[in-house]
Amino acid sequence: MDTYRVGIAGATGYVGQRLIARLAGHPWFRLEALGASGRSAGRRYADAVRWALPGSIPDEAAALTVGACDEGTFRECDVVLSALDAAVAREVEPALVRAGLAVVSNSSAFRMSDDVPLVVPEVNADHVSGLRSRAGRGFLVTNPNCSATGLALALCPLHREFGVRRVVVATLQAVSGAGLDGPRALDLLDNVVPYIPNEEEKIEAELGKILGRASAGGFAPAPIVVSAHCHRVPTLEGHMEAVSVELGSDVPPEEAADAMRRFRGDVADLGLPSAPAPPLVLRDAPDRPQTRLDRDEGGGMTVVVGRVRRCPVLGLRLVVLSHNTVRGAAGGALLNAELLAAKGVLAKRALA
Ligand code: NAP
Repeated sequence: MDTYRVGIAGATGYVGQRLIARLAGHPWFRLEALGASGRSAGRRYADAVRWALPGSIPDEAAALTVGACDEGTFRECDVVLSALDAAVAREVEPALVRAGLAVVSNSSAFRMSDDVPLVVPEVNADHVSGLRSRAGRGFLVTNPNCSATGLALALCPLHREFGVRRVVVATLQAVSGAGLDGPRALDLLDNVVPYIPNEEEKIEAELGKILGRASAGGFAPAPIVVSAHCHRVPTLEGHMEAVSVELGSDVPPEEAADAMRRFRGDVADLGLPSAPAPPLVLRDAPDRPQTRLDRDEGGGMTVVVGRVRRCPVLGLRLVVLSHNTVRGAAGGALLNAELLAAKGVLAKRALA
């Protein structure tokens, strides 16, 4: 495998920091350039960033000078991993694509666009196939909302074997999901906030696209009706989801759990460095998964499922836990970039 040069847009934010940490020592990717806002541009990364992760800033990032999020900063990159707010991404990402760059984004700005794959590699790796003809000409790939990612991974084996029809999900979402400037301690300690702007709409829209089919004209969503209730809770990392599901037939919980336990996903044979094996783990103990004990399974890339049991309303219910800033953001984006590399979609750009 060639080494690809990687740029990070939004490098000083929480997800940007996770990307930098995960790129350290990566076998296929090498950090080349960092971009952020005018507040950070022109400064050494170590001076510009409010580093919020355990351990020190990786050397290869610390000494780099942060640039603006534009073509000039990323001109020597083969791929840009974007961790920008949606409003900023809406302007910046199309400009980078027009400049011929491959952009792999965490933001919600273009997730539902007809020409943009919304990818969880184990679930819908085939959604990137249409991009092969655009290699070297610029394109955009996105990863889903952090709660939608865990939900899609947990429900994929059920959808494939039995068909998922309706889903009701209540989330308990960690503070890191709101980024470095998330809620104040005063608003969150000893508290649960039953509202996260736009979050319920994202989960309800994205699940069908992820579990749907790629078609000539775009993506045909799976006809799944989703009702989401989202809550911010005072945990640091890890989104918990209480899920009730209606399947195409009456499926005993043991059979549903077995389908999830057997799930290996679509990329098990590709050797992607960030792909966990297996992508789903089931816990049998009645009080698991727990946020603190289970969020780091598989380095934060494995989704942990428990409490698979009958639901008197929709038939089946379960609890899902996924690491929001790893599986749901930086690790998910990196895995998407690895998928593009393995599938030959990522081109090495010639330098001007
Ligand atoms: P964040 O901590 O607020 O970081 C935002 C980044 O964007 C910073 O690097 C900031 O740079 C940069 N930025 C802000 N305004 C800019 C501008 N005008 N031009 C260029 N750069 C600008 O946010 P985050 O939590 O890392 O989230 C990043 C993206 O990932 C968002 O779209 C979010 O929805 C998505 N996401 C987050 C999670 C999560 O769990 N946190 C999960 C999934 C997806 P400065 O430091 O210079 O201001």
